[in-house]
Amino acid sequence: MTQNDPTALAARLGASTQRHFIDGQWQAAASGETIETRNPATGAVLTRLARGSAEDVARATAAARRAFTGPWSRWRPAERQELLHRILQHVLAHFDELALLETLDMGAPLSRTRSLSGFVRQALLFYASQVHAGQGQTLANSLQGDIQTMTLRAPAGVIGGIIPWNAPLVSLWWIVAPAIASGCTVVLKPAEDASLTVLRVAELMVEAGLPEGVVNVVTGLGAEAGAALAASPEVDRLAFTGSNQTGRAVIEASASNFKRLQLELGGKSPNIVFADADLDLAVPGAAMAVFNNSGQICYAGSRLLVERTILAPFLERLAAFTAGLRVGDGLDDKVQLGPVVSARQLDQIMGHIAGAHREGARLIVGGERILGALSSGYFIEPTIFCDVSNHMAIARQEIFGPVISVIPFDTPEEALAIANDTEYGLGAAVWTRNHGLASRFSQLLQAGTVWVNCYGLIDPAVGFGGIRHSGYGTKGGPSHVLDMFHVTKSVYINRG
Ligand code: NAD
Repeated sequence: MTQNDPTALAARLGASTQRHFIDGQWQAAASGETIETRNPATGAVLTRLARGSAEDVARATAAARRAFTGPWSRWRPAERQELLHRILQHVLAHFDELALLETLDMGAPLSRTRSLSGFVRQALLFYASQVHAGQGQTLANSLQGDIQTMTLRAPAGVIGGIIPWNAPLVSLWWIVAPAIASGCTVVLKPAEDASLTVLRVAELMVEAGLPEGVVNVVTGLGAEAGAALAASPEVDRLAFTGSNQTGRAVIEASASNFKRLQLELGGKSPNIVFADADLDLAVPGAAMAVFNNSGQICYAGSRLLVERTILAPFLERLAAFTAGLRVGDGLDDKVQLGPVVSARQLDQIMGHIAGAHREGARLIVGGERILGALSSGYFIEPTIFCDVSNHMAIARQEIFGPVISVIPFDTPEEALAIANDTEYGLGAAVWTRNHGLASRFSQLLQAGTVWVNCYGLIDPAVGFGGIRHSGYGTKGGPSHVLDMFHVTKSVYINRG
């Protein structure tokens, strides 16, 4: 197959994607049912996916359990490290194809999906360096002198992973790479709107030498396959990324076997521009903090706080930059913003825009669905509202679309109070030349990640996570593999 030919890719998809990937094999849903998945740039059906049920999840978790206790459990850390390197090479060799598939499936432009190879490389190299994370400790002569005490760490077991549609080529690695590094096995449930790259990556990993059953993918609806995975007694730990509403359902379902959870939920991140900021950086930085991926980013800087003394010139430049952005089908190399993922998402975002008008926010650019040549897809103009106050719904609810709410402030204290007045706590940013101010805000902003004079950088080596309603458990960083993917036991040996 030509790796970057959409027609050839679509033909191949038709053959393989109507099935789950379980135990290294393509397997049809037990019910035989499928669901459709559309290209959001055209609205056309792209292919169909197996409609997973509790029975399919049980098949996948059984395969993952067999793999966990089978030969995989005897792989040495260095062998798993080599495997991660082989997977990286094989995935990178197919990255043009993966980027194209992600663009067709969830709409992000090729310029973005191709660039995700940088994250994949960093994540796999980082997790390959973590294969010895599960080291224990030894205490000679503890207690009565002839007792040797030690901690042993073992891989945690079968990991469930439920991921959203906004960046599957990123989300899947936060689960799969640490699982392989630690010797766990995985059942993934990708989002119904964007499952294709996850299926293809699973196949590529097996081609690169991953034993069958170590990574399994069950597709289907959240309320069916997702709920079954969250409730499954065969799943030892569950990593969930998605909305707060679903996060609550997952917490309740996890009670079946007290499985430990990692929750990465929504956000309403403040992005604060002080009057002394370098506006050549801050203007495009503030725009792309939201318009990147058409606003479908959990840490989007959707509350833009601007110091009042620069408000008018800042808005003028921001509006001009935004009006110059190219929106269209992501297959066009020059496009910067693609469609939003689905008709449902489009309706929700347009509902938020209508609400902002009703509440008295002032529209300065965008605000409409794009029709004409793009009318069959789900395109929305990049949109900016000003005169927003922090109590309006548009400043409190996650929109997950290309909409910025500008909130003016007069003093640093006021900016800090507004920034922290949210139920979320995922990302936050400050643009200023004042190092003292930046340092103070880094300390006081209540968010899992703070960026200074930049936005959206994520290094797997330092971790990413939220506080408050944005979830708990950090992915990445030095303790991720240890905390989420291992169990610890204390062993007492009487040498007497
Ligand atoms: P969603 O919660 O609707 O779906 C996420 C996943 O959960 C999907 O795979 C879906 O099929 C599944 N699901 C749905 N209902 C389920 C149920 N009852 N039980 C189990 N699984 C179920 O979220 P979405 O609309 O796909 O994604 C957008 C949300 O994800 C936003 O709130 C965004 O902020 C959040 N998000 C967070 C991060 C982060 O790292 N914090 C990253 C990306 C997205």
